[in-house]
Amino acid sequence: MKIYLQNNLTGKKEVFKPVHRHFFRKNEVRMYNCGPTVYSQSHIGHARPYVFADLLHRLFRYAGYLVTQVVNITDVGHLVSDADSGEDKVEKAAKETGQKAKEITEKYTSLFFDDLKELNIDISKIIFPRATENIAEQIQMVQELEKKGFTYKTSDGIYYDTTKFSDYGKLGKVNIVGLKEGARVEINDEKKNPSDFALWKFSKPGEKREQEWDSPWGIGFPGWHIECSAMSKKYLGQPFDIHTGGIDHVQIHHNNEIAQSEGAYGKAQANYWLHCGFILINGQKISKSLNNAIYLSDLKKIGMSALSYRYWLLTSHYSTLVNFTEEALRSADTAFRRLISKFTGAQKGKINRDYLAKIVEKIGDDLNTPEAIAIIWSMIKDENITREDAYATLLEADKILGLDIENTIKGIREASFRQIPREILDLGVKYNEAKRRKDYNSSDKIRQNIIDKGYRISDYKDGYRIEKI
Ligand code: AMP
Ligand code: ZN
Repeated sequence: MKIYLQNNLTGKKEVFKPVHRHFFRKNEVRMYNCGPTVYSQSHIGHARPYVFADLLHRLFRYAGYLVTQVVNITDVGHLVSDADSGEDKVEKAAKETGQKAKEITEKYTSLFFDDLKELNIDISKIIFPRATENIAEQIQMVQELEKKGFTYKTSDGIYYDTTKFSDYGKLGKVNIVGLKEGARVEINDEKKNPSDFALWKFSKPGEKREQEWDSPWGIGFPGWHIECSAMSKKYLGQPFDIHTGGIDHVQIHHNNEIAQSEGAYGKAQANYWLHCGFILINGQKISKSLNNAIYLSDLKKIGMSALSYRYWLLTSHYSTLVNFTEEALRSADTAFRRLISKFTGAQKGKINRDYLAKIVEKIGDDLNTPEAIAIIWSMIKDENITREDAYATLLEADKILGLDIENTIKGIREASFRQIPREILDLGVKYNEAKRRKDYNSSDKIRQNIIDKGYRISDYKDGYRIEKI
């Protein structure tokens, strides 16, 4: 089967060819997905790159490849500003909350895993290396770059001189001159060029960081970009096949990774670079200052499952910018429920090969999930296909889509999601809104209305739950 990928490195859609071919084994795909910085809870926007990576993983497995997937956990070195200034996000969160850095990173790593599980991503098939557990590899790579003349020292760290790497900025054709002109406020005036970046940062004199290590240059911690170059090489070799992340990583983070990996070892880091578009919430960027982040746990509170969210994600192409609204999610949820209800109690018939081929072909065409879903709906409406055969075909396609349709139908997953009627869930939303407005008169009335209908609504610190009485 041919798989086409839109390669951001070349700007073209290309037929995938793996680096590793084995005469006596299946082909292999080695993929690296830039992972989360675990200093706060991941919001629904953060879920998109991993659902996208999961689709790639499932597609390649379906096409008969062995897949090795790595998602790094950034637990040190990501500074508040991507331009290497400001505090380390993890150290800052530790100071603010009075917790240990390790407590913070463990907590948010575990919440991240919970989200992945909810989204039906099998974490047992992914390698999750942590930056703090691969310090020696990062130091070694900086030494390699130093040997080859790419580095220089300032009072606060070891930096990469981007003018020494002639291809700098090749991903997404980033214009360094433009970067220079755009960089009006240059915080670190010891940097030779605005696009130069830290490989190793020194702990500030007189300040003891919680996470710091000895190095040939002095006590400190790795820059944010070096972990991805070092860990991708360690776990996947160089070059490996596919590197992914959110679109925000193209300009700085991924161009820096390329500069480090190619600079150090003189060969490509990865052959295909794919990026997912951003998710906005009600037309706005998700940001701390706007306080508009929505978490998967919030969706549950309004009766939407993480799988409805996954369904909603699949209705747009991964590369597009999409706007999340509650209304949009509710219509995806309605469609997903309709899909589930079509096959409740159905027996599995025979797979319809024509429809399956069309669906798989669409997903194999740079993950065109919206069209794949459209084909599924036309199959369901096709009177020449029995319900049983449509069900068998859907379950086969679901091996790639990952909506966990069979378990949802059986009620194994999200039992409450199926049992609480929409009318009650809507009352729950109104109840919550009234409470937020501190309109307790209305919230009490809605609560009574819910009880009269045979359900109980209970308040929790982080929201509310509805159960059948
Ligand atoms: P971070 O923890 O900030 O390094 O982000 C983890 C991943 O989530 C990266 O691949 C980001 O590009 C991606 N990401 C962050 N915010 C969004 C968003 N609003 N929509 C889609 N992807 C995002
Ligand atoms: Zn990365």
